Amino acid sequence: MSIINRIQSSWNRTNVKCVHCGKVYIQYIEEQIPGCRDKEYDICPYCNKENGSSMELDFFNSKVE
Ligand SMILES: [Zn+2]
Repeated sequence: MSIINRIQSSWNRTNVKCVHCGKVYIQYIEEQIPGCRDKEYDICPYCNKENGSSMELDFFNSKVE
């Protein structure tokens, strides 16, 4: 199973509007595993600018097709 299929079946999906370019992208989030937390950045797939970061969530962003 591909990473995309795994994400689409188990992650929470939301739509996010980029504060930099104003475009809407699809964001999948999943809680990080406690004990192996790392800083994850929420990067816009259109302009590659950061819309925030989290020590608790993993982000996977994709453009709206
Ligand atoms: Zn953007």
